[in-house]
Amino acid sequence: MPNGGTLELMKHFVPDTGQSSEFRVARLERQLLRERSARLEAEAIAERGLRELYEQKQWLLLLQRVTKGANEADDIAEAFALSLREVCIQMGWDFGNAYLIDSGSREAVACDVWYAEEPDRLFAFIDASRQIRFTSGIGLPGRVLRDSRPHWILDVRDDEGFLRRSEAKRCGIKSGCAFPIVIKDETVGLFEFFSSRTVMATDDLLATMAQISSQLGRVVERDRARRALLHDASHDALTGLPNRALLAERCARAAADLSSNGQGVGILVIDLDGFKAVNDRFGHHAGDSLIRALGERLRGVVELFQRESDPNWPAERVTLSRTGGDEFVVLLDGLADRSWVDDLTGRIHKAFERPFYIGSSEVRLAASIGFALSDTGRCDVNQLLRDADLAMYEAKSEGRGRTIEFNEELGEVIRNRRQLEHELRLAIRDCQFRLFYQPIIDMRAGTELRGYEALVRWQHPERGLVSPAEFVPIAEEAGLMSFIGGWVLHEACDALARLHAMGEAHSRRFISINVAPMQFLQPNFAAQVRRTLMRTGVRPESLKLEITEGVAIIDPVRTAKVLAEVREWGVQTSLDDFGTGYSSLSYLQNLPFDTIKIDKSFIDDLTSKRSQDIVRAILDLARSMELSVIAEGIETEAQRAILEQLGCPFAQGYLYGRPVCEEQAFAL
Ligand code: C2E
Ligand code: MG
Ligand code: MG
Repeated sequence: MPNGGTLELMKHFVPDTGQSSEFRVARLERQLLRERSARLEAEAIAERGLRELYEQKQWLLLLQRVTKGANEADDIAEAFALSLREVCIQMGWDFGNAYLIDSGSREAVACDVWYAEEPDRLFAFIDASRQIRFTSGIGLPGRVLRDSRPHWILDVRDDEGFLRRSEAKRCGIKSGCAFPIVIKDETVGLFEFFSSRTVMATDDLLATMAQISSQLGRVVERDRARRALLHDASHDALTGLPNRALLAERCARAAADLSSNGQGVGILVIDLDGFKAVNDRFGHHAGDSLIRALGERLRGVVELFQRESDPNWPAERVTLSRTGGDEFVVLLDGLADRSWVDDLTGRIHKAFERPFYIGSSEVRLAASIGFALSDTGRCDVNQLLRDADLAMYEAKSEGRGRTIEFNEELGEVIRNRRQLEHELRLAIRDCQFRLFYQPIIDMRAGTELRGYEALVRWQHPERGLVSPAEFVPIAEEAGLMSFIGGWVLHEACDALARLHAMGEAHSRRFISINVAPMQFLQPNFAAQVRRTLMRTGVRPESLKLEITEGVAIIDPVRTAKVLAEVREWGVQTSLDDFGTGYSSLSYLQNLPFDTIKIDKSFIDDLTSKRSQDIVRAILDLARSMELSVIAEGIETEAQRAILEQLGCPFAQGYLYGRPVCEEQAFAL
């Protein structure tokens, strides 16, 4: 389309014969001049448009490079470094510096990620910028942090609030600007750029920086999500402590480092005593909050121990982890001094001296600790963990609040026990148990046989008869005693039926069986007794159940209930091994027994006045409570005579007969 200049030119070319040629030339020259300036102007317009187009394309390319780089970067530092470099090169900044916002203090902290074309020239300024922190409102980064928008300083040397003024002067820095990196409304970091020239803020630049900062915000967000995932995968949700997976990782590293650093590795397994009771009494929710509080307390103990043992011990080489319900494991990697372990276990036990609280209820807890230490230079950390675990179980079996160190001897004992446990399972499967019967005598009527105590034996395929003293405790611990006890109950009742079928004299005799705590406290125990009585048709009065104080200690309320229930049907109840526990009298008062059995340890010593006094006191007590008494373990005529003189009604012991098989026993 013809523009204004061309139209004018055409108008002037219309022939005009009335003018001189000189005049026409001058007019043509003027026309040409006008035409040229118009062309130049048109060219300038076109060029400016092109340049703007070019610049916009450059911005776009910058944004593309930053976006691509940020997406491909492995971490925040890499993404930041790449972006700083691209922006500096494209825009001619001399120095670019990155900050992250500390989520705790909300300060802008330089993260030592920066870019400079000529670092040596700007050394003083870069060095001052590398490791600084700014609170909101202070310095250039502080202003961005406070306002969450870019800030621009045309000449930093004139800006009173610019803290690095003297370094800027020394290095010839003039202009500076800073941009926030934002996730939604939160400023999570910022970039600052400096130049020795005066740089003005343009709309394009501001728009591009806004887009770059939103790209980088995404990088930070992605990094946060990754960290959160990593943390969740390696930490226990309840306590926030490292979990089993992270512990395993640290253990592997400890094992790898061990040969090179010459220091030891120690592993402690800590398990709460009596936590189940807390859970049962207060509920799982309360149990959880207790574990959380305990985790907090243990964390404090371990951190203080670490600092005080060696302030230079790197934090990640002492790992307190929660590995199960109420189980915690401490890995001590780089243990320079063995006595440190004693120190730590002492501190842990001490931490339990203060009570815990569930609502307003005070809860007192204790922990059993097992630990294992590496030999110098040799260490299978997983084995160490297993050893510490075994030692912990050993500590637990010895009572509350104990610590036991694993050693080879203990390992041997435990291995034997494991083997026995394995064989016991086979024994249950293959029915390798026998019942022996020991006579119980009425001393008042000469030596009248009144009944038997059924005593279990294990007919081991290689070892022959194994005593219950050897296998019952192991079966109890392995949770097998209710199976063995169930068999004993059935077998004894079957035997009772056979015994009673032998005739009038035999039909008045009773059989007493021992009931293990675990078996007795099973919810279906009473029902099991009742079913067995009904199946065999024996009179309930001819069955006696012997329990020890151990049962009552675990759950006195339930024990009383079950005893009362079976007694209602006529079944007799006995308190076995009386006098060996520490609170026999109080249990006696609250629990419905028919008989107490005086423990053999008092009978052994019966020639001493002290034992005689004790036995006399027990007999008096029993008489006043209308309880029957059986003295156990009578071996000599002298013991018998004293007991008879003291007025003890019933007796049991080698003097009258050892435990023998059914045939022999019932023939008596
Ligand atoms: P207990 O119930 O106190 O049984 C008495 C133990 O003393 C028996 O040992 C018996 O053989 C032994 N004994 C009896 N009179 C004498 C004596 O004059 N001198 C000596 N030195 N010992 C005598 P046993 O049969 O080895 O049983 C040991 C323990 O094993 C029993 O102590 C009981 O606690 C447990 N036990 C035995 N059978 C069973 C069972 O079927 N179930 C459960 N839960 N425990 C059982
Ligand atoms: Mg007994
Ligand atoms: Mg006994």
